[in-house]
Amino acid sequence: MSSKIISNLFCFFAFLCVLLLLQTEFSPTTSNHEKEYVTIDELSDKKDAHKAIKERFPKFYAAYKKLQSQTTDENRMAAIEDAFSAAKSEGFNDPKILRSIHLFEAQIHQDRWHFVYAIESLKLAQELYFEQKIASHIKKLRRHLSQVESERGLNDSYIATKYSGPAKQLKGKVVVAYVYVDDGINTRWSNKTRHRTEKVLELVQDWQANAAREYGVNDINFVNRSFIARKNPMLKAPRTISFESNGEDIEQYVASVMASLGEKNVGDFIEKQIKAEGADQGVVILHVNFNQRSFAQRCGYTHMKKSRINGKYQTRYFSQCNNEYVMLMEQVKRNRWDKMHYAQAHEMMHVFGAADLYNIKNASDFAVTDIMNFQSKSLDYSQVEPITAYAIGWLEEKPIAPFIIIEK
Ligand SMILES: [Zn+2]
Repeated sequence: MSSKIISNLFCFFAFLCVLLLLQTEFSPTTSNHEKEYVTIDELSDKKDAHKAIKERFPKFYAAYKKLQSQTTDENRMAAIEDAFSAAKSEGFNDPKILRSIHLFEAQIHQDRWHFVYAIESLKLAQELYFEQKIASHIKKLRRHLSQVESERGLNDSYIATKYSGPAKQLKGKVVVAYVYVDDGINTRWSNKTRHRTEKVLELVQDWQANAAREYGVNDINFVNRSFIARKNPMLKAPRTISFESNGEDIEQYVASVMASLGEKNVGDFIEKQIKAEGADQGVVILHVNFNQRSFAQRCGYTHMKKSRINGKYQTRYFSQCNNEYVMLMEQVKRNRWDKMHYAQAHEMMHVFGAADLYNIKNASDFAVTDIMNFQSKSLDYSQVEPITAYAIGWLEEKPIAPFIIIEK
């Protein structure tokens, strides 16, 4: 069997992925933001409406009563699903009642910042009967979405970097080398802010492990190591950088952070951590304590190997790149924890192979609650949809998507 290694065929694939976090929350037009829906009693002209519905549509009635008694949105969503499925199977079609459930569901979606779903629910309500107030609200949500989606048209395709770099896939033993960058001027850390950040990381990792279980991945074991990179008088103090800095400036910044830890480069640093912990994967997070757009540098394949097995040529791609890290630029502030959760989770997904969805043209109504697409109000409402699960190694089969998925 002949085997040939074509090195440097792919000169060097690295991907910079920048996360845009919207600092403004959506404020609805209605002043009353409480969840309200009309009850059967209020809706009905007839006194015996309850009895009539209960007798004619017992399943729907039970689901509807259950919905009214729920105290959490998660349970309410489950009850709503039951109510609609019962309405369908029993032929219940009272437009006022069904409409009120759609509106209620829209409110829950909106509270979670799942605006695409909120619009869908509002449209279903409008189909039952039209109301100008709701039409205006849909318009307002669409306007908000167009602001959130300002970068939607940037990409046509999705680039998955499966099995490349020190963070090959989000599985097994994962060492996270968390570096607090403290230059004494622009980015500083106290024991308290470091401690709070560590707690956020643990919550993010719980979220990741829970999401993994839904794909049958049960073996994730995080080991967190923390480091403080201080200004070193022997080195030039790290200047501040942003995602807009040129590649060379970013590399220099990272190099000086590594030098203050006594390391040659980020690749050697993470390889050392992986070895020390006997880990399968390694992630470097460089956290600067100021606000900018966070970004991740991820590795792609660097080499291709062609071999002939049983007379057939097969091509295998692999990577010798190890310059992979997250540059987290989130200032630690008491009221910004949700953003930090989101940014940590989102950026970590990149190094494991996932691409952004928020800037892909045809992803505006695809995997809308995915961590790489729209931001949810809290991490609990963000999901790992099959496209991201595929890219980070949780799903073998390439999902069907309205855009091309490239592996590099
Ligand atoms: Zn991103």
